[in-house]
Amino acid sequence: MTDLRDDTRDLFRALTGAEPVGLWSAPGRVNLIGEHTDYNDGFVLPFAIDRRTLVAAGARDDGVIRVASALGDEVVEAPVAELGALVAEGGLQHHWAGYALGVAWALGEPVERGGAGLDLVAVPGLDLVIDSNVPIGAGLSSSAALECAVAVALTDLWRLDVDRPRLARVGRLAENEAVGAPTGIMDQSASLLGRRDAAVFLDCRSLDAEVVDLGFAAAGLTVLVIDTHVKHSHATGGYRERRASCEAGAAAMGVPSLRDLEVDDLPRARELLDDVTFRRVRHVVTENRRVLDTVRTLRLEGAAAIGPLLDASHVSMRDDFEISVPELDLAVETAQSNGAIGARMTGGGFGGAAIALVPEGELSRVKVAVDGAFAEHGFTAPTLFTVTPSEGATRET
Ligand code: ADP
Ligand code: MG
Repeated sequence: MTDLRDDTRDLFRALTGAEPVGLWSAPGRVNLIGEHTDYNDGFVLPFAIDRRTLVAAGARDDGVIRVASALGDEVVEAPVAELGALVAEGGLQHHWAGYALGVAWALGEPVERGGAGLDLVAVPGLDLVIDSNVPIGAGLSSSAALECAVAVALTDLWRLDVDRPRLARVGRLAENEAVGAPTGIMDQSASLLGRRDAAVFLDCRSLDAEVVDLGFAAAGLTVLVIDTHVKHSHATGGYRERRASCEAGAAAMGVPSLRDLEVDDLPRARELLDDVTFRRVRHVVTENRRVLDTVRTLRLEGAAAIGPLLDASHVSMRDDFEISVPELDLAVETAQSNGAIGARMTGGGFGGAAIALVPEGELSRVKVAVDGAFAEHGFTAPTLFTVTPSEGATRET
């Protein structure tokens, strides 16, 4: 982190010839449990990780907001007063600068739309310089890390009074409308509300968020991320199809969303629904239950007892929701049989990463076994790294 801070400051100096007035950062995230529950108004339990995106910032007197990233040479700028027009004409769609400038725009959008309803007419222009050690596109939400780092920088520099749950919505609005990526609010909530050695228990209906101690450090447990590098071309279509099945299942069961069903409702669902829709519904209903059980288990018994819930979550995604792939199954099974106390694929599925909860003393055994198993199956070598539940977005200096 010290190096990253220095790099970000150096880059700021190179761009502007001046010292930044401050440095802000926000983390990526891993979802511990609660997959495909967000758009069903259910529960998720992500945590912020020790990989962060930094923003060095300084004021300008011309009303222009300018953004640069260590990832590329492009410098993008727009007058703050014209951000609305830029977003409206789609000028930031699918563009990296949209995650940063989109946040500035969203702060000025009405609260009912997910903005912060602020009057940005009188704010000064800014230079923003971004650097990061969150892997891009690996399912650790580098996008939310970028949005949230910019969001905390702007609220400080423009002296805005916006609480963090509102800022999470601002980040989501930027990603949904300025960038054009249809994502939920889990990532921004984890990045803004995360705490050291804790997870964020989020109710995706009420948007209530609660910090839940994980106690991984005290239990001698580490989270190993196994990035399979598998990216399936049908991931987007598969996601859309799963969402449609969930909506159809809820409609057939006569509830607004699958959040409104309990495990006790499943026998009736089996009678009413076709087999595929039933299994999609069963995943969401049992996964919501597992998130609640994980929170309760963490509080009553501690982290060492949550392994079976992670394992069951994986089985449900593999067999009922059918979003796993052979590489993810192999990662999970190999971790489980070599010392992990629990493991599951994490993220939207059809590729991406698995996580394993591993006693520190077993870490090298699990890593060697996973590497070996992938080689034996002729799969692309995975990337393995540990993550630590960490603080959410903050001012660094
Ligand atoms: P993920 O959030 O899983 O990493 P996404 O596709 O949601 O993947 O977001 C990745 C995109 O976010 C990148 O393609 C880029 O446009 C933007 N982004 C993230 N971090 C940075 C960064 N440090 N500098 C510039 N753009 C970034
Ligand atoms: Mg993302």
